[in-house]
Amino acid sequence: MKRIDECRVCGNTEIKEFLDLGDQPLANSLLDSPYNNDPEYPLSLSWCPGCNLVQLNHTADPEELFSEYVWVTGTSKTAHDHAANFYKEVVKRVPNIQEGYVLEAASNDGTFLKPFVDKGIWVLGVDPAKNIVDMAVKAGIDSECAFFGQEAVEKIVKEKGKAKVVFARNVVPHVANLHDFIKGMASAVGEDGLIIIEAHYAKIILEELHYDSIYHEHLCYFTLKSMEALLNQYGMHVVDITTSPISGGSLVYYIKKNGNDANKENENPIVQRYRDEEQSTKLNEWESWQDFAKKTFEHKNALLKILDQAKGSVVGYGASARSSTMLNFCRITTKQLPVIADKNPLKNKKYTAGTHIPILDPKEVMKSNPDYVFILAWNFTREIMNYLNKDLGYKGRFIIPLPNSPKIIDSGE
Ligand SMILES: [Zn+2]
Repeated sequence: MKRIDECRVCGNTEIKEFLDLGDQPLANSLLDSPYNNDPEYPLSLSWCPGCNLVQLNHTADPEELFSEYVWVTGTSKTAHDHAANFYKEVVKRVPNIQEGYVLEAASNDGTFLKPFVDKGIWVLGVDPAKNIVDMAVKAGIDSECAFFGQEAVEKIVKEKGKAKVVFARNVVPHVANLHDFIKGMASAVGEDGLIIIEAHYAKIILEELHYDSIYHEHLCYFTLKSMEALLNQYGMHVVDITTSPISGGSLVYYIKKNGNDANKENENPIVQRYRDEEQSTKLNEWESWQDFAKKTFEHKNALLKILDQAKGSVVGYGASARSSTMLNFCRITTKQLPVIADKNPLKNKKYTAGTHIPILDPKEVMKSNPDYVFILAWNFTREIMNYLNKDLGYKGRFIIPLPNSPKIIDSGE
């Protein structure tokens, strides 16, 4: 794993470290056996005094991280609802969309291309995880197995021409070869094309203490300011912003090429409101991130206290990548949490990285009728509580670790 010596966006060499989460395993590398050894790598964050990007200090090998990805978008109902809304937002903005095609970078199982396919719009997904591309193709969503970037785009454009729309959801923050990826997005569409980037918003990470969203895959933590610092280098300009419920709070940036004054006039006033708000809330400032680091350690102590004092049995729910950071940072093992329930069949009968907690199907886990369910995938709290209460008849209590302070709530609250 390589330590960076300059900012991932602007190249500033004076980046300053503010949080060390210790050595951690790769979040998505679940184990087949609890006796397997899993290597651990440094997980720490820096802030850039130039563009104010918050970023990981180390970069893992993308081949190791993404070739057998276990996160399948379509397993979450929230993702399906968001995909339907996303489709509406896109067609509203691109009236002649039928004349071309829609390209998605890191398309996963094609959940977000599906609504386009259903309306007869030509699509292409590009994703590096072979097992998941196969799933998408089987479901009738045209997809290719490749790392998205200049090279992949050149090949696609040669075959199919420029896309009307190119979008990348929750992937730009994960890309080690960031500049190649962004250049690829720019050259995938024509001059009138629409580029859409969805990324977890650093403002929410800061305000709601989403330190669990920090893991090796997630290299950059963007604000509008740092996103613009990146896009402007390639003549791209943010013209509108909407919000997304994914990851507990993300921004969707609508981007046009040639960020000249003409485009500035087309900018939705909401973009300037975001810039102003970032300034007034000190989002891009060094002191704010130092404070975040302090609160992260306080959260760890509070969470361990809750688990210590919980009377009766506790099980976990949702072996997400995010849960890995929290479990490893807090050193929560099978002593406090003997099992984790997860609906994703790809995770069934595996073990969490670093903490070696077994993962089983929720129906099996809930047979023991535990006193507490610790919702690790807390950004899907409502959905999970509904499922456990209504479908599985669970009446016990829940431990909700985030946002902010951990808390215990009763069923039906
Ligand atoms: Zn920078």
